[in-house]
Amino acid sequence: MSETLAERLAAVRERVAAAARRAGRSPEEVTLVGVAKGVPAERIAEAVEAGLDHVGENYHQEARAKLPELRARLEAFGLPLPRLHFVGRLQRNKAREIARDFDVVESVDRVELGAELERRAAEAGRELRVLLQVNPDSEASKGGVPPEALHQLLAESASWKHLCVAGLMAIPAPRATPEASRAAFARLRELARALRRQPGGGSLRELSMGMSADFEVAIEEGATSVRIGTAIFGPRRRGGGDPA
Ligand SMILES: *Cc1c(COP(=O)(O)O)cnc(C)c1O
Repeated sequence: MSETLAERLAAVRERVAAAARRAGRSPEEVTLVGVAKGVPAERIAEAVEAGLDHVGENYHQEARAKLPELRARLEAFGLPLPRLHFVGRLQRNKAREIARDFDVVESVDRVELGAELERRAAEAGRELRVLLQVNPDSEASKGGVPPEALHQLLAESASWKHLCVAGLMAIPAPRATPEASRAAFARLRELARALRRQPGGGSLRELSMGMSADFEVAIEEGATSVRIGTAIFGPRRRGGGDPA
């Protein structure tokens, strides 16, 4: 790829806006999260300088190693840190650090994990935004609560005072073409709509779905947030990590 990072970011933003308009939605309704696993701090800083204001990370250890340099580089530009989203598999023993380092946790899929994050956010005096991760294909190898267990998780989340449960996140199984993912995205939108009618579900406004290969279809089907790595930062090196 010969384009610069800023050019690729601008091209993705244009595609996001065009997909939103096709669906009769305003482009501002869709948050672009740049997923930076395997991307060095210097490149992330370059993207933030070009206007990226939400950055996602999958691995806490990697994020933590990059944060000081990212902070220092942005300070040199006079820029604040972007909003940091944790999008990887959550582990209970990392909850304390995640509650301290991240603003949004998109991968809450078990009551125990939510309760631990709540405890750690309270200790840190922070309020975190969280999404409940649903596993729409009930794939055993993937994170996420099965759709039928979502009601229970939502009910339990009512006691989390330092976590604002803002919506759902999902990583549907990859399909051969973006169009082939449309039905899965539409089902997630309907699932979110049904939950909003449940007691305590009224605040579930966000729907984080769609990645580099299929974000336009996801937006057409109601995504309010897309998580994009490759299309912004370029291909990952082998071992750079795939969605959990
Ligand atoms: C890696 C990753 C992405 C971005 O994937 P791309 O295909 O590179 O856009 C999005 N969401 C999650 C959870 C990921 O792990």
